[in-house]
Amino acid sequence: MPNREDGTYVNEKDDQGLRFCSLHAIWYRTEFGCQACFEDSRKTSTESVKVNVQIFKCPNCGKTSLVKNPDGITYECLNLDDRAVFKIKEDGTYFQIGKLIR
Ligand SMILES: [Zn+2]
Ligand SMILES: [Zn+2]
Repeated sequence: MPNREDGTYVNEKDDQGLRFCSLHAIWYRTEFGCQACFEDSRKTSTESVKVNVQIFKCPNCGKTSLVKNPDGITYECLNLDDRAVFKIKEDGTYFQIGKLIR
């Protein structure tokens, strides 16, 4: 048992500013905020980004991890084991122009 006076302990707990998140039914410290709420907002923002980014199937590794680069010319595989970079031919087929180094 910690050698504390009961009154001091209660006051400390109040000063810590614990808040209850009714959404997640958990207590959190105000200085950190509700981590579950934070996770939720993070997920929502990454999902909304994904909507704007088209992901294609990579002809090199076969995974759906190919994205068009902002230059509008090259495509890049997000698979960390691959990282191949492609250009697209006029007939719509990809040809690999290199690999990114991690
Ligand atoms: Zn929450
Ligand atoms: Zn790939």
